Amino acid sequence: MKLNGRSALVTGSTSGIGLGIACKLAEAGANVMLNGFGDVDAAVAQVSAYGTRVLHHPADVSDADQIAEMVAETEREFGTLGVLVNNAGIQHVAPIESFPAERWNSIIAINLSSAFHTIRLALPGMRQRNWGRIINVSSAHGLVASAQKSAYVAAKHGLVGLTKSVALETATTGITCNAICPGWVLTPLVQQQIDNIAKAHGDPQRATRELLMEKQPSLDFVTPEQLGELTLFLCSDAAIQVRGVAWNMDGGWVAQ
Ligand code: NAD
Repeated sequence: MKLNGRSALVTGSTSGIGLGIACKLAEAGANVMLNGFGDVDAAVAQVSAYGTRVLHHPADVSDADQIAEMVAETEREFGTLGVLVNNAGIQHVAPIESFPAERWNSIIAINLSSAFHTIRLALPGMRQRNWGRIINVSSAHGLVASAQKSAYVAAKHGLVGLTKSVALETATTGITCNAICPGWVLTPLVQQQIDNIAKAHGDPQRATRELLMEKQPSLDFVTPEQLGELTLFLCSDAAIQVRGVAWNMDGGWVAQ
């Protein structure tokens, strides 16, 4: 699988799944625009190790104007934007009656609306070259629900719907749009949830096991590297007829 000469933008790629996907894309030969907060220098250094051009854009993807700047800069710097991975996401866990309205708004903005903006802005360039791969990182929560995650579940289901619409609008082109739906991946986003469970009995190992046993029959985490490999497959020529799918990689979560 070679992405030599291709360029990618991965939102939320300074840690976790996005960083794992960015590494795989760079390993396959793509130039990569990283995005996200935190330890930017470490993320750039890690992805640069594969020898392609790696840049970082600090856009807050809850802001449409900053997204527009990021897409424009990616196209300006690399000449093209062929692979778009919409990965940035946040979580908040609370019953709906006490779910803070501002957290609802930011989860919808970051986990769903950001993908609407990146896609509408990146598609014209993809259409010009008749090649593109749009991969939306949804979740097992894009296919089934859990209690106390109303905003996240709504956003991730919405992202699956957006994926299908874009796949239909691009169906006769060399551009595909698909979603990937991970189960539990041990990243900072999930570590927070383990820490909250551990607060109840003070045992992180037991908390981790409880988290997996509740949802993930394999009792093992999915890894960012595995999700990166799935992304590479979706970027390949062999995947040209894979259009509008929501592909779960979830240790059996939604088979139940
Ligand atoms: P993470 O917290 O490790 O990474 C999130 C990334 O998004 C970081 O780079 C962060 O800086 C960035 N980010 C957050 N808010 C942003 C904003 N406003 N603008 C730009 N960047 C922003 O989380 P993760 O677990 O790697 O999650 C990545 C994606 O995968 C999310 O969409 C999440 O919903 C999804 N997902 C995660 C799991 C899991 O178990 N970890 C499972 C299914 C789906």
